[in-house]
Amino acid sequence: MQTLTHYMDALRARHPHFPELHQAVEEIARSVWPLLHDHPRWRQERVFDRLVEPDRVVSFRVVWTDDAGAVHVERGFRVQQSNLLGPYKGGLRFRPEVGESMLRFLAFEQAFKDALTGLPLGGAKGGATFDPRGRSEAEVMRFCQAFMAELGRHIGASLDVPAGDQGVGAREVGFLYGAYRRTHGLEQGVLTGKPLDVGGIPMRTQATGHGLVYFLREALRARDEDLATRRCLISGAGNVALHAAEKLIELGAKVVTLSDSGGALVCPGGLERECLGLVKRVKARGGSLADVADEVGGEHRPGEKPWAVAGDLALPCATENELDARDAERLAEAGVRAVAEGANMPCTAQAIATLKERGVLHLPGKAANAGGVAVSGLEMAQNAQREPWSGEAVDARLQEVMARIHAACLAHAPDRDDYDAGANRAAFARLARAMIGQGVP
Ligand code: NDP
Repeated sequence: MQTLTHYMDALRARHPHFPELHQAVEEIARSVWPLLHDHPRWRQERVFDRLVEPDRVVSFRVVWTDDAGAVHVERGFRVQQSNLLGPYKGGLRFRPEVGESMLRFLAFEQAFKDALTGLPLGGAKGGATFDPRGRSEAEVMRFCQAFMAELGRHIGASLDVPAGDQGVGAREVGFLYGAYRRTHGLEQGVLTGKPLDVGGIPMRTQATGHGLVYFLREALRARDEDLATRRCLISGAGNVALHAAEKLIELGAKVVTLSDSGGALVCPGGLERECLGLVKRVKARGGSLADVADEVGGEHRPGEKPWAVAGDLALPCATENELDARDAERLAEAGVRAVAEGANMPCTAQAIATLKERGVLHLPGKAANAGGVAVSGLEMAQNAQREPWSGEAVDARLQEVMARIHAACLAHAPDRDDYDAGANRAAFARLARAMIGQGVP
């Protein structure tokens, strides 16, 4: 059998410009290589190699006009990773740094995350280099329409169902859906994360952040610990961060930091729940955390991350590789008990190794932040059944799914603190069985 080193060398040679993909593949390969030893058929049928290579990658030009009449040219992408388990499923990201390397890694991770939910969902990711920050609503709408003019031909309710991600919230999904419907006809299940009046499901916006906290609560419960009064360090001030903060406060924990690309906001006494609405409004109109520091009774630290602040739990909810080995060392030094990933791959490989060496629990994003896609799965079911769900029913189901994912991680973990291996192996086993069951093409 090929060694892991040999496999990774070959992958780097094949895709020399995709560093994030190398990082994501190596992280999963380390956990699943022993399974390949134990399952000769998975090895012979090249299950791992087939999962790494996406079904297809679509890239396209998107031309749009700003309010001043200037014409802009952006790049749009969709990576359809795997539809072994169901329609391709994964978010769209609008940020200037979007490119194939970033999306290849996100789509690969997404296929594993979606498998972990236990729902019939494949994996995908997409986006565009467009930056919605500081743009007017009319500009965002025109961009969404231009983007969908091309993306629309590659998606469908039983084919590929995009949702939101960074820079894409319910407003953008609503514009995207309107553009799709006008060209392709009524097909509500083609996008999830839609506004409620457009066929969305209650709690989808909150689902990733709330689900993250439910997962963290499960991990603490398994150790006879709880969330109440814990001091939590959160990075980010977007959808995931603010809803994680909301649920933590509701469950009696203290949120002592948030952050954005301008720096960290530190509130040693804990943020009040009412302040989250203010942060949301200011961020939505393109403002920064510095603008709200005085009003929420906090201190703004320009250019800093939250990881030097004293706390018990850390929840990185901004972006990939935002927490490095030095940050991990600081967290361990300060006595942080667990790091629960709200963002996708926010910890570098060295950071994860440091956390483990220092006995800090690491809860990987593909398990901990799967609540969003799980509720997207419910939105697809709602649209197909034409039967609206209540917020309470969605929340109950979300708690159930997060508890199930937690149990699957523990069942597959080589030791009870190794959630990374547990999540990777549980997802891989489901994908491998589905692949073998469908034969070799
Ligand atoms: P948003 O766009 O709503 O928020 C992102 C936040 O992160 C913003 O506050 C942004 O600051 C901050 N940020 C982004 N890049 C950096 C950086 N380099 N340094 C510091 N801060 C940064 O995105 P979401 O909350 O939706 O997504 C956050 C993460 O969670 C992403 O990794 C995403 O893939 C992941 N995720 C999201 C899901 C969802 O349902 N939305 C589902 C599962 C995972 P600023 O405003 O200054 O740019």
